[in-house]
Amino acid sequence: MNGRQSAPQRICLLGATGSIGRSTLDVIARHPQRFEVSVLTACSNVDEMARLCRIHRPELAVMADANAGGLLAKAIADIPETEVMVGDKAIAQAAAMSDIDIVVAGIVGSVGLAPCLAAVQAGKRVLLANKEPLVVAGELLMAEARRCGADLLPIDSEHNGIFQLLPADYTPGLQSSGVERLTLTASGGPFRRRDPGTFATITPQEACRHPNWSMGEKISVDSASMMNKGLEVIEAARFFGIEADRVDVVVHPQSLVHALVQYRDGSMLAQMGNPDMRTPIAHALAWPQRIEAGVKALDLVAVGQLDFEAPDEARFPCLALARQALASGQAATAALNGANEMAVAAFLRGELRFDRLATVIEQTLAAMDHAVASGLEALIAHEREAKRQASVFIAEWSR
Ligand code: NAD
Ligand code: MG
Repeated sequence: MNGRQSAPQRICLLGATGSIGRSTLDVIARHPQRFEVSVLTACSNVDEMARLCRIHRPELAVMADANAGGLLAKAIADIPETEVMVGDKAIAQAAAMSDIDIVVAGIVGSVGLAPCLAAVQAGKRVLLANKEPLVVAGELLMAEARRCGADLLPIDSEHNGIFQLLPADYTPGLQSSGVERLTLTASGGPFRRRDPGTFATITPQEACRHPNWSMGEKISVDSASMMNKGLEVIEAARFFGIEADRVDVVVHPQSLVHALVQYRDGSMLAQMGNPDMRTPIAHALAWPQRIEAGVKALDLVAVGQLDFEAPDEARFPCLALARQALASGQAATAALNGANEMAVAAFLRGELRFDRLATVIEQTLAAMDHAVASGLEALIAHEREAKRQASVFIAEWSR
């Protein structure tokens, strides 16, 4: 019981069948008086979506894939309260529906940009796990959130940690709040100690076996190549409006400290907790209140020791590529994201070697002119061109 008398807040969950979707539904189920699932969206997993509809009885279920939508409508024909819609447009419309209070952005990839933007422009509280939209068009998304009065809250664990550590009156620019630097921790992924001479033979299964977090395939591969941390440096710079050279990355294999903020007076504040996405999700759902998330408190004595080391950029070249793109501007980060999405998908299909992920991204960035207009359409077109360009390089490498 939370003691509140008001009606539950209505939630639209984008990417309901994924890892973030699962964690979000777990937190929501702990607070039935407070939250209600109104919309669920997914790409093509009909069985899982049908199962979720039976449990949560949303008013609307949307599948991006039209064929999957038809199958879902048949599978849940006995649930009259749930309408089924299909297509990307319907997902973006659902995220902006007038009776929705909170949108959880848990889609993977830059395909999540349109619904994120729609939710922001409708002035919703938007919980952002989906980091690729910020990498492609973050400045625009942040400006729209300010213009439309949307509460855009990060649930990527490191960024949520920083959000928790910053003063309540923080505004991008930092000088007045005494904030000097932000630090994102990285686990180092499954290959922190693996002989780089064997990186060519890494299988998708090995890359997806993350030591500390259970996540979707794409972000697991990104974590293994450390591109995830590169995307997160871009995400932090955009989200908190801070210069790239004031965002540090430190490898912390236990993943118990998620983020740190260095203040001018010498204080360094850390946000800690067990590695479980339900913590940042619960934080942002209830913010500025705190609710139970089903996550055990850290037992520091049992933990005993925390380790920190500098990231090995020779072993993980994706981190430097992301920093270079960030220095070049939004079009370059859009291209970086597009090339990475194509390379990761090819790796997961077994068509590209793990050690060629960075090569394809570097080749794509070098082949393109990033001095393009910074509007939304131009950025989307630039990312699309990067995807096309990257697929040419991937085809050459897989020959
Ligand atoms: P996932 O692969 O487990 O789930 C992805 C979800 O997106 C699924 O529900 C899928 O149906 C949906 N989806 C995929 N393609 C789509 C499309 N074309 N149109 C509409 N929906 C589509 O991924 P995840 O691990 O839950 O990650 C989701 C996002 O959150 C990613 O951007 C990831 O970087 C970010 N994130 C995840 C975690 C985590 O712990 N999983 C942590 C931090 C950030
Ligand atoms: Mg993260």
